[in-house]
Amino acid sequence: MTVSFDEKARRIQENLAQVRCRLAEAARRSGRSPDQVRITAVTKYVGLEEIRLLVEAGCRLLGESRPQALWAKADALADLPICWHLVGHLQRNKVARTLPVVQMIQSVDSLRLIEALDAEARRRQKPIPVLLEVNISGEAAKTGLPPQEIEPILAQLPRFPYVQVQGLMTLAGLEGGLDRARREFAALRNLRDRLRTVCPEGVRLDELSMGMSGDFEAAVEEGATIVRIGSALFEGVLPG
Ligand SMILES: *Cc1c(COP(=O)(O)O)cnc(C)c1O
Repeated sequence: MTVSFDEKARRIQENLAQVRCRLAEAARRSGRSPDQVRITAVTKYVGLEEIRLLVEAGCRLLGESRPQALWAKADALADLPICWHLVGHLQRNKVARTLPVVQMIQSVDSLRLIEALDAEARRRQKPIPVLLEVNISGEAAKTGLPPQEIEPILAQLPRFPYVQVQGLMTLAGLEGGLDRARREFAALRNLRDRLRTVCPEGVRLDELSMGMSGDFEAAVEEGATIVRIGSALFEGVLPG
């Protein structure tokens, strides 16, 4: 069964309205303002047509997890006012091709990557905003830096002035359900609060990117400033 263009457009508008509404309620429940939380719409499941509909529906901040897919989509959609964020692993040999198309890399996971980003951003004379990805759940299969490795990296940042670390990002563990996800989001916020007291001057760690389709309300209640939403935006849009 394929879904007609009009049906896709309608679904995407509805899904986005729903997500915004749930986000606003979660923000209010925790005494925050909804506009303190940005939605990164993760478009890795969909093609160009769906992305165009999403942008028309009012989404400007989009994320992709794989660099090659990001390059292809950014090229094909260069006529649209999209702000692209990379949310997945970046290899150092893909830095040069990635920097021209992204406004932020949410998933920086090593000092060597920071070094490579700094060198390329310096060459371009344009600093790159990033988040450090933290493996807060401690699951072996998870990506990101162990929490105890963040502080030593922060201490190195003055050597890399073209990399602007604006905060932390995490994916909640796959097991343990919503309660565990919530504890991990709280743990990321606590880690951030502690690290703020030891940051080099000028590093503020204002951003917390946490929460996906299944757990973003808990993340907002625990202080997320960025949520990364994929599947909830495309319900009823993809065949099957
Ligand atoms: C796919 C992906 C998301 C979105 O996941 P959904 O559960 O579909 O909302 C968020 N963050 C990252 C890093 C992803 O790869």
